[in-house]
Amino acid sequence: MKAEIISIGSELTSGQNLDTNSQWLSRRLGEMGIAVGWHTTLADDLDDNIAAFRIAGGRSRLVLISGGLGPTQDDLTREALAQMAGVELVSDPESFRQIEAMFARRNRAMPERNRVQAQFPLGSAPIRNDHGTAPGVWLQHAGCTFVAMPGVPAEMYAMFEEQVRPRLEKLGLSGGVLVQRKINTFGWGESAVEEKLFDITRRGHVPEVGITASDAVISLRIFGRGASLELATLQIAPVENIILDRLGNIVFGFGDEELRDVVVRLLAEKRQSLSVAEGVTGGLVAQQLCRVPGAGRWFRGAIVAYDNRIKLEMMAVSQALIDEHGAVSAAVAEAMAVACRTRFRTDLAVSTVGIAGPDGGSADKPVGTVHVGLAWSGGVDSQSFSWGGTRAHIQSRTAKMALNRVRLLLVGA
Ligand code: ATP
Ligand code: MG
Repeated sequence: MKAEIISIGSELTSGQNLDTNSQWLSRRLGEMGIAVGWHTTLADDLDDNIAAFRIAGGRSRLVLISGGLGPTQDDLTREALAQMAGVELVSDPESFRQIEAMFARRNRAMPERNRVQAQFPLGSAPIRNDHGTAPGVWLQHAGCTFVAMPGVPAEMYAMFEEQVRPRLEKLGLSGGVLVQRKINTFGWGESAVEEKLFDITRRGHVPEVGITASDAVISLRIFGRGASLELATLQIAPVENIILDRLGNIVFGFGDEELRDVVVRLLAEKRQSLSVAEGVTGGLVAQQLCRVPGAGRWFRGAIVAYDNRIKLEMMAVSQALIDEHGAVSAAVAEAMAVACRTRFRTDLAVSTVGIAGPDGGSADKPVGTVHVGLAWSGGVDSQSFSWGGTRAHIQSRTAKMALNRVRLLLVGA
């Protein structure tokens, strides 16, 4: 049994906006064990919509639609569903009352044209919308379930989670329960990680283990499947233990956890304060840390010492050191970390220097050469790397490298 997802809107087909609803819905259906066979994107055109609904109904048992439920003339989903099913549009008094109430709560008069949002194909059921005006439509036709939801992503997400998902679960369309466990790593490349896990990432392994890379973070996803949540979950633990055991401390977190989240959590756990001296990353490390709620209790501040003069004057790096090693060197990264730790009076300080390109590289220091320094009560050290990729990649990966270096110190590695 495959499902189809249809996104409607000329702003999508013209390239003005990206259809993110299909991606989001596919992920949700995937979690429920429902495979998606098709994504279809349509302009606001009645005949095309009717045709697409017919095709979808002919090959799928579940069709999720988003968009075209608004009050304006180019919102055609209700009309197209009715014509596909060969039924009239009829008014639903309860939906009309809810739309009126929605406007009343916002102290606005209801425009006459919003009336159409209370119209439904005969035989369909309205889906409540607690976050906007347009109710959704639940229509059973010729062995297929059509579910139409608003196009505005936040409204669609809420309607799916609150109203649609529970009803789909009751329909029992899913081929069992799918449980995912995501393990996030930093420090090795994708192929190095895969090499360690060759036996469990191969095709056909049960449970399935997938590997994905996103900006130097390599993640493993274990997909447990079973008739119940318990059975699906049971599949995961043994494989997860193998992965943790083989990958050791390159594993930094699970699920949506980012390096920055883990660093702030560890700083709090170990009661360690942190400051940052940034060259090549230009403030990215500080920005990452600041994104984590509560970071301010342990993250004290940062200096962007981009120009050598700032490294000299503010970070107490000596001209002799720069002359001997160059500004992009382990020695300068370490000197910056030490000076930063003293100036900011923190337990730890991390620093970055490097060449982000596209210019400024040389034979012995190519674009992508970076050094991350770390100073703590016990001393100072540095780590070097040569990243590939664009300027933005090099900067963001170096920022992650800096966060990871702090993490490793805090976990005692
Ligand atoms: P509704 O059915 O909620 O009334 P609509 O079609 O009337 O939706 P539009 O005005 O077309 O709403 O779109 C509202 C907003 O939602 C726009 O910013 C649009 O780009 C966005 N949107 C619509 N569909 C999608 C989608 N598939 N992915 C991402 N954004 C979308
Ligand atoms: Mg639209």
